[in-house]
Amino acid sequence: MYNPDWKIATKCVQAGYEPKNGEPRVLPIYQSTTFKYDSAQEVGDLFDLKKEGFFYTRLANPTVDAVEQKIAALEGGVGAMCTASGMSAALLTVLTIMGAGDHILSAAAIYGGTTNLFTVTLPKVGIETTLFEPDVTEEELRAMVRPNTKMIFIESIANPALVIPDFEMFARVAHENHIPLVVDNTFATPVNCRPFEWGADLIIHSTTKYMDGHAAALGGCIVDSGKFDWNNEKFPGFIYPDESYHGMVYAKDCGEKAFIIKARAQMMRDLGAMASPMNAFLLNNGLETLPLRMERHCSNALAVAKWLESNEKVAWVEYPGLESNKYYPLAQKYMPNGTCGVISFGLKGGREACVKWMDSVRLAAIVVHVADTRTGVLHPASMTHRQLTDEQLREAGVKPEGIRLSVGIEDVDDIIADLAQAFDKI
Ligand code: PLP
Repeated sequence: MYNPDWKIATKCVQAGYEPKNGEPRVLPIYQSTTFKYDSAQEVGDLFDLKKEGFFYTRLANPTVDAVEQKIAALEGGVGAMCTASGMSAALLTVLTIMGAGDHILSAAAIYGGTTNLFTVTLPKVGIETTLFEPDVTEEELRAMVRPNTKMIFIESIANPALVIPDFEMFARVAHENHIPLVVDNTFATPVNCRPFEWGADLIIHSTTKYMDGHAAALGGCIVDSGKFDWNNEKFPGFIYPDESYHGMVYAKDCGEKAFIIKARAQMMRDLGAMASPMNAFLLNNGLETLPLRMERHCSNALAVAKWLESNEKVAWVEYPGLESNKYYPLAQKYMPNGTCGVISFGLKGGREACVKWMDSVRLAAIVVHVADTRTGVLHPASMTHRQLTDEQLREAGVKPEGIRLSVGIEDVDDIIADLAQAFDKI
């Protein structure tokens, strides 16, 4: 019944799981580590990838598989693999592509956890990263590519800087150099941005954010566009036999699914950062309402951002949906239906006023999380980055007076009323 021409809201509800006559209407949770077979031959064929099926949940599970098919359909990819978290999606992507001696070119304005992975942990195993600034020019970026560079990495909306990249420029430089462009599409979601249509080769997600959307389940996902040609000396792991997997030559034997099959057969097998069936079930429920929620997150956030802009106690507001925002033109081009529900703003009163304001909000909760149905606030300078001085904060790209506001899907009048009463207290 699945129709690839369905619009995204239909795919969010219907893709991935098609019950047959008399089967459960709702995607079942296959809470089983293993699957039973009648013959050794069948299991052998599964191992050899001659047959599709399930034998061990670390590699594949029917509940997780249904969600993977749904996310691949939403992004327009040839395949997807769910992971335990967004961080493991990033790690597995890197290790599927490269090894010691290789190099990543990454945006500096990305999620701090990914920056740590790239600049602290991966160097310990011989993978280096160079960071480029948000407004890097095409020439500057081209000059940063090294012979051992194996991927360019950006976020479709950077967390927390809310930078929107010029996807086509990054894709051009990546493809001129025969390297893949990898996009973390967590904040925009496939509802608001489709990176494959702008030249991305791989997409990763922290599904923990809007995709689950209820702050109920940690998760990640990797999606393969199937368009990148891995058949190149730059990627020896794809063109020489994998002796740990029956001599499989991924670029030759797996066609357009070379990346996603290698990611699962090799990296998920060895690293085991799988999504649990229960979390996949929760994610699937979240995905069904994603378009509705994104619409509301975006309209609420735009209203709140405009209101903040007109507030005399506010020093600055960053939201790419605002016409005054530097990234507004890029947002209009790459995500014309909306960006996300996250806003950054600064208080004229500085760090102290922020703490007082944070302590005064009632409906908005203080949480170290963004992108779920409930409005949440975070003041990095007094919370996640509290050990740093103002000067050190600025060096880390965190403004001492900055608050990150994740606008939920409550009635926007109630959200603004809550923020307003907190402003009255400072
Ligand atoms: N990517 C982005 C853009 C994020 O915001 C986050 C988490 O905040 C991650 C990746 C990491 O995801 P997770 O927390 O699911 O490991």
